[in-house]
Amino acid sequence: MTYNGTILSKGIAIESAYLYTSYHVIPDKKTIADDEKAQAVGRYEKAKATASNELENIRARLDDADKAKIFTAHIDIIEDEAIDDEIRESINAEGYAEDWAIYSAYEKYIKILGGVEDPMIRERAADLNDVEKRLLRCLAGIPEKRLEKLDQPIVLVAHDLNPSDTAMLDREMVRGIVVEKGGATSHSAIIARSYGIPLLCVEKAMQMIAPDNLLIVDALDGVLYIKPDMATLVDYEKKRGRWKEHINDVSRYLSVQPVCTDGTKVDIELNIGSAKPEEMGNAEYTSGVGLFRTEFIYMECNTLPTEDRQLEIYKSVLSRFEGKPVTLRTLDIGGDKVLECLKLPIEQNPFLGKRALRLCFDHSDIFKTQLRAALRASAYGDLRLMFPMVSSMDDFYRARTIVDEVKENLREAHISFNEKIKLGIMIEIPAIALLADHIVKEVDFASIGTNDLTQYFLAVDRMNTSVSNYYQNYHPALFRLIAYVAREFKKANKQLSVCGELSSDPLAAAVFIGLGIRKLSMSGAFVAGIKKMICSMNTADAEEIAKHIQDFPTAKHVENYLKEMLSEFI
Ligand code: PEP
Ligand code: MG
Repeated sequence: MTYNGTILSKGIAIESAYLYTSYHVIPDKKTIADDEKAQAVGRYEKAKATASNELENIRARLDDADKAKIFTAHIDIIEDEAIDDEIRESINAEGYAEDWAIYSAYEKYIKILGGVEDPMIRERAADLNDVEKRLLRCLAGIPEKRLEKLDQPIVLVAHDLNPSDTAMLDREMVRGIVVEKGGATSHSAIIARSYGIPLLCVEKAMQMIAPDNLLIVDALDGVLYIKPDMATLVDYEKKRGRWKEHINDVSRYLSVQPVCTDGTKVDIELNIGSAKPEEMGNAEYTSGVGLFRTEFIYMECNTLPTEDRQLEIYKSVLSRFEGKPVTLRTLDIGGDKVLECLKLPIEQNPFLGKRALRLCFDHSDIFKTQLRAALRASAYGDLRLMFPMVSSMDDFYRARTIVDEVKENLREAHISFNEKIKLGIMIEIPAIALLADHIVKEVDFASIGTNDLTQYFLAVDRMNTSVSNYYQNYHPALFRLIAYVAREFKKANKQLSVCGELSSDPLAAAVFIGLGIRKLSMSGAFVAGIKKMICSMNTADAEEIAKHIQDFPTAKHVENYLKEMLSEFI
């Protein structure tokens, strides 16, 4: 059987399917007869034992001490006497079934903790929630599925993946991913691309694929094969071989200097989401970090990372980049990025809601903790601060004032930091792009976030596959807007880069060079390919191309023209 899909990360995978669903069921509020109570308690005890066992196993397999601590905390919750008594009481005295007894006891505590002022206590609600789901799943007899440590190579199949699922998955064993939902610039897709894992979006995939079905994920031509025949399999082994050869060929450019044929130098920087060695692997072949998506540090924890923990991470990134600039983007939560450690109200339009800087203004304790950690880290290297979701000059002024306050507190406490730390913004909202002439006077630098800029400029949800044909990366109006920003930054002689996914597309990257942008930031997996394009390119030609495309009426015209002009360089 073959199905068409949307390519979210290129490549080919041939492995058995592993169906992943996270367990989330709210039990019915039902009562039981007196003679069933003993059995109900027995089933609860069995679920408790299974859950504890699972947690012990996970803890034993983890090398990371910090992550192991989370699971110790979960074991403690399961053993908590107050909750345990309450569940037993609910079954024995009130006559409720064991699933409702577990659910109602946990929900009661989740509500209490969720309403507490102190954020450290509030975060414990997320742990309780996790344990509650685990207990209910064990009670239902459903085996656990985790993505961090897998025993054999698989193609992961899921309705949808949270960025935190994707960030935690076993990169060795997950050879391909099929999802039913997710746009090309969803954070799961961005992570899959940075890991080099082929990812296809196929409607109703979960219904069509059974566990262990052999799959071919052709994320080069956008086709999914379920239980392919022998001949197809043989063809695909060859196709996969040719793709690997192509990747090897491009990878020869990894260590070269990114210099155009006329001698123009371009800085290639890295996009990272953690201080993990796998993410910073290409540090020596780049000029620094152009985008450190710090929210991923928060996503990996069940509690908000402390100032000291953040300081440690930021310092380790600075030390890995040995004096090169590291651009730390402050917390960008909201949209498709949710935090287990900070429960936030559900919004109807999360991408247009309380996201990123807006959320930080509301949670100034969290924002200031991050700024303190970042400023303290700035004493150890060239750390820069960049604010996401800036929609007006006021947003920037307000963020800068908070930075000034935190600086003052550090001075009073005689804690050293870089007094001249550079402050910049992401240009990802059209309004601030059109105020480039004003914002350029205030900031030290800016970076264009094409993922959100495309979404907000073209009024198209970056996550919604049903409108993905409206998410047009090559829309000529988008290039006109970026051209305007580039002109203003050039006039003011201020640094401008591009750090959205478009910077890792050789066709678009050539246009950015033609617009005078000399800094591109991307995941490690794309560095070699972009260097190849730069080394084959002449800036005068790039300028001509960049000028020409702004006159085209449609994205298709732009794409065809770029392919015609640049295909030999990619
Ligand atoms: C962007 O919007 O282009 C960007 C780089 O930020 P993120 O993808 O994390 O929203
Ligand atoms: Mg963004």
